[in-house]
Amino acid sequence: MHTMKRIIIIGGGAAGCFAAIQAASAGAGQVEVTLLEGGRELLNKVRVSGGGRCNVTHSCFDPRQLVLHYPRGSRELLGPFHQFQPRDMIDWLGARGVELKTEEDGRMFPVTDQSATIIDCLQKELRRHQVRVWIGKWVKSVERSGDGWNLETTDGRQWEADACMIAVGSMQNSPMSSMLTSLGHTIAPLAPSLFAFNIADRDLCDLAGVSVGKAQVTLVGGEGLEQRGPLLVTHKGISGPAVLKLSAWGARELARRSYQFTIHVDWLGGDKAARAEWPAYRKQYAKKKVVNQAPAGIPLRLWKYLLQRSYDSLGISSSELDEQTWAHVSHAQMSAIERELTACEFEVTGKSTHKEEFVTCGGVSLKEVNFKTMESRIAPNLYFGGECLDIDGITGGFNFQAAWTTGYLAGTAMASLDVD
Ligand SMILES: Cc1cc2nc3c(=O)[nH]c(=O)nc-3n(C[C@H](O)[C@H](O)[C@H](O)COP(=O)(O)OP(=O)(O)OC[C@H]3O[C@@H](n4cnc5c(N)ncnc54)[C@H](O)[C@@H]3O)c2cc1C
Repeated sequence: MHTMKRIIIIGGGAAGCFAAIQAASAGAGQVEVTLLEGGRELLNKVRVSGGGRCNVTHSCFDPRQLVLHYPRGSRELLGPFHQFQPRDMIDWLGARGVELKTEEDGRMFPVTDQSATIIDCLQKELRRHQVRVWIGKWVKSVERSGDGWNLETTDGRQWEADACMIAVGSMQNSPMSSMLTSLGHTIAPLAPSLFAFNIADRDLCDLAGVSVGKAQVTLVGGEGLEQRGPLLVTHKGISGPAVLKLSAWGARELARRSYQFTIHVDWLGGDKAARAEWPAYRKQYAKKKVVNQAPAGIPLRLWKYLLQRSYDSLGISSSELDEQTWAHVSHAQMSAIERELTACEFEVTGKSTHKEEFVTCGGVSLKEVNFKTMESRIAPNLYFGGECLDIDGITGGFNFQAAWTTGYLAGTAMASLDVD
């Protein structure tokens, strides 16, 4: 007869490792925590995250503001963020000698700019709290056994637990998805989030590397799906925060359209003052060449591309364009330029993975989880954390924060579990 409570956590990513540390420290002497990771190492995504720097969290400390960065899960995360939010993660790491720095846009990274700093800290804590870590153990079944759970790994080994946590990351192509369905859970439809848009326009893609500080991207016929922020031209189309945010908020709608859709780009970012200002250029810069005088914030190469698009529609050649001065721009040309500047239309033909960060939208239905403890409302003593839930954030450290927070709650709750 065992006297220690046996906790098994499936998945050694951010959520699983943090939950294991929390359960083992909060339940010290009373719990035995086992972490089963199927891959060859723990915290694989932490290692590659943020371009190898790990964008750990975001400097946003008001839970009501913080939840606004989650296209899915914002309502459910409000309570959890009152329990464990970015400030708590910063303090937790600080108490273990890991200092973070904040970038201008609010993203937070270790001062070392190395994800290994975060990994080393978490691994040290796993060892300090004597978590039993198993690598290369893929869990293939989770079955009810009395009040607890019986697990089997692909090597045929059986594992018994009083409480079990699912922290397996994305449910895309995961056998865990059908296992959970058979336990009575619902998996909300899965779709990629945080991706760049492919646009088959050679002249645009030739501008790869050009960016604007604020643009507004609108999905045509997308019922208000529109995002603002920096935009970057890539060799395949467009990316940058405005695009990534639109891909997150529109994840399901864009999947429904099989990633073929029309967008309008306002290169002035919907800025009314900038819109009002630039038509005055005709008088202000009368003798200057149009190609050499772009509205504020529009790089000259991009400006020339936009002019060429507008003049193409009017049948004006690029040699004429090169010579034209502002004084000679006709009203028809002004309207055409304005259209390209503020509602530049592109056909998106597909998506590209954003290398810095991508996540899956969809996962375990949030209605079926108690967000005070992260315990299943359907299967007692089964807990969830991280990306396997139908929660995802926009880029900026919000996805890891959701993993730390849900891991913290699940770990704390499992440590105080009552078993006979
Ligand atoms: C390239 C990239 C960069 C990113 N950068 C950032 C960033 O800088 N900031 C940010 O906030 N977010 C970032 N993200 C998102 C972030 O990595 C995830 O949201 C986060 O890792 C989710 O943590 P998790 O613990 O839920 O899942 P994961 O980190 O995916 O961990 C799940 C673990 O479970 C294991 N597993 C799965 N099934 C089983 C099974 N049956 N048995 C045993 N083990 C199993 C997997 O091998 C994996 O190790 C990035 C994502 C990617 C892909």
